[in-house]
Amino acid sequence: IRWTEGRGWHDAQLVPYGPLELDPANMTIHYGQSIFEGLKAYRTADGRIQTFRPEANARRFQASAARLAMPELPEELFVAAVEALVQQDQAWVPDQDEASLYLRPFMFATEVGLGVRPANEYLFMIIASPAGAYFPGGIKPVSVWISEEYVRAAPGGTGAAKCAGNYAASLVAQAQAAEKGCDQVVWLDAVERRWIEEMGGMNLYFVFGEGENARIVTPELSGSLLPGITRDSLLSIAADLGYSTEERKISTDEWRAGVADGTLTEVFACGTAAVITPVGSVKSASGDWTIGDGTPGPITAKLRETLLALQTGRREDTHGWMHPIV
Ligand code: PMP
Repeated sequence: IRWTEGRGWHDAQLVPYGPLELDPANMTIHYGQSIFEGLKAYRTADGRIQTFRPEANARRFQASAARLAMPELPEELFVAAVEALVQQDQAWVPDQDEASLYLRPFMFATEVGLGVRPANEYLFMIIASPAGAYFPGGIKPVSVWISEEYVRAAPGGTGAAKCAGNYAASLVAQAQAAEKGCDQVVWLDAVERRWIEEMGGMNLYFVFGEGENARIVTPELSGSLLPGITRDSLLSIAADLGYSTEERKISTDEWRAGVADGTLTEVFACGTAAVITPVGSVKSASGDWTIGDGTPGPITAKLRETLLALQTGRREDTHGWMHPIV
């Protein structure tokens, strides 16, 4: 779907996958007006196809657009585009457990010109790709490197938007994590380098206590972390399962001390790609520690199974999150 100043959204088309032609003075290449989303279409056990909360992706996409001075695509157009593509590509929606058709909506400036200002032409597209189970060999906890040198986002910056530049800014820290032998980076706040924000492409959750008395804590939306849709869904699911939940600041010191004295029992990350993945070991400039025994904790496992069951139609959708396509 194209957007042109003075005309608005026009020319929705469903076309075969193929290359785009790009002018060397395309404004996105120079000034970075590029935003995206990620969501999945699932095949249910009885053969239906459904997507998970596409309206939430549409709203986050609008917020990202607003932050980057781009035009906001109406929610109905976003959702209708998702529906049209999944209907067209329904044969590509896998039917194995935990597999899905991954959808990548994105928008970028198509205007040609040099000069820093919002462009006056944009293209919104969605591409689709079948995605296998994230953990084909069983769930394996990730190891993380807490980045104290680099930050992903600062107050007033673009951290709460899903824009390409945030990911470019994260690559050097991700490389540093790999050098330290870790799978992922954990980001801290930019000001005090003390408060935990998120992990790579996922939000973080901390479980204090055990069983019915467990408290499930996630960093509050600081304005510089991405408001994940999985994060938001888990706040409701955890409450459905009877756990108390809290959105608040949590520091690296609290993480380390909680593991040391046994009050912090489980840590996991959540996002569209992996759903939920346990965090097993932590490295940082100020010390290393491990959580759990290399297997997902009971609450992590229960939340993961509950969310997956909902997404694949094995659990009743009491929140009205599933959006039927076929
Ligand atoms: N944080 C970042 C930086 C991400 O890229 C993602 C993936 N979109 C998330 C968190 C998790 O968000 P969601 O649950 O909406 O996939």
